[in-house]
Amino acid sequence: MKIAERINRLGTETAFAVSAEANAFAAEGNTVYPFHLGDMNIPTPANVMEAAIKAMKDGKTGYCPNYGVAELRDVLAKDVNASHGTAYSMDNVAIQPGGKPTIAKFILALMNPGDEVLYPNPGYPIYESQIEFHGGKAVPYGYLEGEHNFKLDIDAIGKQITPRTRILVLNDLQNPTGAECGAEEFDQLAELVLANDLYVLCDEAYFDIRYEGQSQSFAALPDMASRCVILYTFSKKFAMTGWRLGASIGPKGVIDVIAKLNVNDESCSNHFIQYGAIEGLTGDQTEAQQILNTLQERRNTAVDILNSIDGISCFRPNATFYLFPNVTRVMQRKGLTDYNVMRQTILQETGVSFCTRLHFGRELKGEDQLYVRLAYSGIDTSEIKNGLNKLKQFLET
Ligand code: PLP
Repeated sequence: MKIAERINRLGTETAFAVSAEANAFAAEGNTVYPFHLGDMNIPTPANVMEAAIKAMKDGKTGYCPNYGVAELRDVLAKDVNASHGTAYSMDNVAIQPGGKPTIAKFILALMNPGDEVLYPNPGYPIYESQIEFHGGKAVPYGYLEGEHNFKLDIDAIGKQITPRTRILVLNDLQNPTGAECGAEEFDQLAELVLANDLYVLCDEAYFDIRYEGQSQSFAALPDMASRCVILYTFSKKFAMTGWRLGASIGPKGVIDVIAKLNVNDESCSNHFIQYGAIEGLTGDQTEAQQILNTLQERRNTAVDILNSIDGISCFRPNATFYLFPNVTRVMQRKGLTDYNVMRQTILQETGVSFCTRLHFGRELKGEDQLYVRLAYSGIDTSEIKNGLNKLKQFLET
């Protein structure tokens, strides 16, 4: 069969290739310490599972509305309002099979072919893939390493805006860097958005994966709700990555378009699991809190060991389950400055498997520092200790 030309413009998540390599290495009998994938090895809270099973037994096994179950849309709008300070109603919510579908549906709803879209790089690779697949021009913007955090390169964003720029993709509480915008960055960004009449995809996949402080939403800033669509997901907060449930939250006009895309793509999201999500939002929060406690302990363990390695510096992000250490000095010392050689050598020598900066987009002009990404969502604290101590030994010898 001759594959359609547009498929040449479709990207992928290259982290899955790292996963395949790690699995092959493990199949040879080697110990692997999996820091490569943002999946979770923590069970979904029992009350969420029980609510979904009950819904299945109660017959919630047929189609449901393409917008999602009304009760879920209602409790989700209220939950988001409480944490964001927004004023959404169920009319602003279209349930999705995961967080990811909002990316393509937002682009399909708002981007015309030839439009320019600003997106983060390093960043989640699906933005670039979907922008280009649907005929847009993907324009990357980067981050600057600050003292305790990565900062948006606001100047670079401003300079790249042209009359064709229509959309900004913002992933605050970011994958892979863990970057979090401060109030000043948000204000500067909002000024750019208003001055240039942009729409914003607010990817808030990690809004609730937070250990200290309070997450803020760009969509809650004055005049922004009418320009923003929030990507919401149940995947991380309730350790439900494989259930596939999320939502698009935004102005009713766009949500109606997205719901029409739902009809065309999948008819509706899985019916009975939406009742599990209702329980997740409204029921007992003990296990959801335990998920955060577990992740926080893993974060602290990993950051402490990484920072004890001569030549590595690593921020301690307040949110997400990713670390993005600067490894330039240690890799220069080891003569491992080619990302792929570095990654493969470390896998072979220590079993520690991770992604590098290259899995999150092409390097930008002028980049001279080396970074790797470690996800600690799929590895227990004891294995974090074993793996990163092996890494330390290898890198310091
Ligand atoms: N956005 C970002 C930044 C992510 O890291 C992910 C998943 O890793 C997603 C969206 C998609 O999440 P989901 O599993 O809910 O589709």
